[in-house]
Amino acid sequence: MSTDTHIETALIHGGFDFDAATGAVNVPIYQTSTYRQEELNRPVNGWEYSRTGNPTRAVLEKTVSVLEGGEAGFAFASGMAAITAVLMLFKAGDKILVSRNVYGGTFRLLDKVFKNFNLNYELVDTGDPALLEQKITSDVRAVYVETPTNPLMEITDLRKVAELARKHGILSIVDNTFMTPYLQRPLDFGIDIVVHSATKYLGGHSDLIAGIAVTSKESGLAERLAFIQNSTGGVLQPFDSFLLLRGIKTLGVRMDRHVENAEKIAEFLSDHPAVTNVYYPGLESFSGYRLNASQARNGGAMLSFELQPGYDVKKFFSSLRVFALAESLGGVESLACHPASMTHASIPADIRERLGITDRLIRLSPGIEHADSLVGDLESALNASRG
Ligand SMILES: *Cc1c(COP(=O)(O)O)cnc(C)c1O
Repeated sequence: MSTDTHIETALIHGGFDFDAATGAVNVPIYQTSTYRQEELNRPVNGWEYSRTGNPTRAVLEKTVSVLEGGEAGFAFASGMAAITAVLMLFKAGDKILVSRNVYGGTFRLLDKVFKNFNLNYELVDTGDPALLEQKITSDVRAVYVETPTNPLMEITDLRKVAELARKHGILSIVDNTFMTPYLQRPLDFGIDIVVHSATKYLGGHSDLIAGIAVTSKESGLAERLAFIQNSTGGVLQPFDSFLLLRGIKTLGVRMDRHVENAEKIAEFLSDHPAVTNVYYPGLESFSGYRLNASQARNGGAMLSFELQPGYDVKKFFSSLRVFALAESLGGVESLACHPASMTHASIPADIRERLGITDRLIRLSPGIEHADSLVGDLESALNASRG
């Protein structure tokens, strides 16, 4: 296998070159639950049962591990299943500090599921390292970060988080869904675990649900997470593993176009009278611009903005023709969503308002269509939404 370190090349060759038996350039879909053993205690090449290990899933897990620069990758049936498995590294009485504005489903999992098992959490502004350090009490076992956050694009300093976690002997976990390893590699900065909703950019075609976790070499957590993955069983199926591998191959070229479109849209929105705040880490005027640029290739492709009072949010959404009103993000087609009533609906209204996720906030996931189609669509929807 290639040892070339360019990520564009690793996307294609990082986990698999060709099938030894046939020369096939794609990994076969090993649609099997079990494997015939030669004799007692002699599984062929170690394959025993597909919850424990499957050759198609293994290629995916190797690929994502190479892409993130980790020791081992783990593929799950959804992003939430991956996050659940990672949280199972902890025990009752432990506490996790979590980026405020964390993905709504992650908040729900912590607040409504793990809290019942006495695994505690606290939402903090992880963008403020001094505050974060103050919050590291003796029961805190991990810091869980998203950067940029969803949907306000708050940036957290990954080097500082890794440094603080090391200093206090706790784990650092980053949800890298929004940036992907093509734009940002948290493990390079000393982070212990990266998780993904591979449903989004990694898959890239809005045609599957999948999750990924990757552990760093330094963390030494590969064996424990493998044990949890096998014990709890939320694994990704062989066909979906194949689909995800297929998506990952074009991640680089897709992200280039996604980002180019996001930059053009952010510029357009910044100058439009119907728009107040534009939240996009790729805009030089954005508060997190420099910090993000110090740890990511560019500002990514997700952005949010607020409509001015006097413009009708409902009319805006119903006037869109190219952008689809939908949950999710990171697919080739452009999506628009209303965080307050959709992705963040499970966060109580008072907390939501305090976090800045107002009813006038709109989040965009630009696809890979022509930029003019997307800007034109937004322009006519903004005009239609006026009073
Ligand atoms: C979608 C998403 C998740 C959850 O992933 P699923 O694949 O939907 O289970 C977690 N984190 C972030 C940032 C997401 O966008």
